Amino acid sequence: METLNVKAYGTKAADAPLKQMNIERREVTAKDIEIEILYCGVCHSDLHTARNDWGGTIYPAVPGHEIVGKVTRVGKEVKKLKVGDSAAVGCLVGSCRECDSCKHDLEQYCQGGMIGTYNGPDKHSGGHTFGGYSEKIVVDEHFVLKVPSNLDLAATAPLLCAGITTWSPLKHWKVGKGSKVAVVGLGGLGHMAIKLAKGLGADVTLFSRTPDKKKDGLELGADKVIISTDTIQMYSVRGKFDLIIDTVPCVHDINPYVSTLKLSGTLVLVGYLGPLDPFLNSVPMILGRKSVAGSLIGGIAETQEMLDFCGKNNIVSDIEIISMHDINEAYERMLKSDVRYRFVIDMASLKK
Ligand code: NAP
Ligand code: ZN
Repeated sequence: METLNVKAYGTKAADAPLKQMNIERREVTAKDIEIEILYCGVCHSDLHTARNDWGGTIYPAVPGHEIVGKVTRVGKEVKKLKVGDSAAVGCLVGSCRECDSCKHDLEQYCQGGMIGTYNGPDKHSGGHTFGGYSEKIVVDEHFVLKVPSNLDLAATAPLLCAGITTWSPLKHWKVGKGSKVAVVGLGGLGHMAIKLAKGLGADVTLFSRTPDKKKDGLELGADKVIISTDTIQMYSVRGKFDLIIDTVPCVHDINPYVSTLKLSGTLVLVGYLGPLDPFLNSVPMILGRKSVAGSLIGGIAETQEMLDFCGKNNIVSDIEIISMHDINEAYERMLKSDVRYRFVIDMASLKK
């Protein structure tokens, strides 16, 4: 099979820094779209994968699943987009398209296993997929999204993961006017959760550990900010929320947040993956019919719906543009919660 050799940035081991490398992309087939990548957002999942935090990373690993660019070539059966159009790719580049989940536009829960934009099984090469920290990507048109023309391209990139991962639970739990929503953690996902919940008409509270993010939380649209380390402030919101979206990337005590749910409220974990520590106390859950749930990114139709909603409501991410060559430093800053509120790589820097 013919391949394209493209420049990328990736790592060869969990403890090695990311550096420039070359990777192979497949040639464009009938239903494929080739995209020149202009911007790629930096998600905490990129760092988890590069450093093998979840186990299972295959090296070399090229992260990046918040991709925005321009269509440079299309296969002969492609209908969705044409050369020169703006295009986006999120966390998914494949799924079986036949199972119950796929038939219901829930490709992220494909029963055959969804194919992640990076570190997923690549049925074309027989190897694994490489993400958006690169010059170009070739993707089946089903998994390519259209970008609303009024949105800034760089600031749109984070919608492809941070946006859809918070939009999907907001929609699933039917958030709208009058809903009381709380968001835990003000990072990439957290700041998008505030903007989207506000856009849907909810009353939004931010829980943050970081007192100096209070002003930003309010400016981003939160109606209230609670410093989660302050027990008096935490007590003041007991029994208040219909839905809490918890974006914290590492193990933490979720019991204090469960206490802030209303009767029948739900706390959705989207950040931390793994066993809870300390244990989850079932008493408030049983006495208040509360739920603790999880949610994974979103399907392709839902991602397009979110992008169109953002187009109509002028919602984009608050970003700091970085050069590809600064990615290792950006990861260190992300570990210190020093991102306001998403790094986006200007991919032109890879050509320099
Ligand atoms: P991020 O930008 O680094 O933000 C995480 C925020 O969590 C931080 O800004 C901080 O906010 C808070 N935080 C960090 N460490 C904490 C700690 N030890 N205790 C309490 N709070 C802490 O990360 P992100 O890109 O938003 O990603 C968040 C998580 O979601 C990652 O684990 C990522 O892998 C995961 N993720 C999941 C999905 C999914 O489909 N479910 C999709 C994408 C990403 P404050 O300073 O305000 O406390
Ligand atoms: Zn992500």
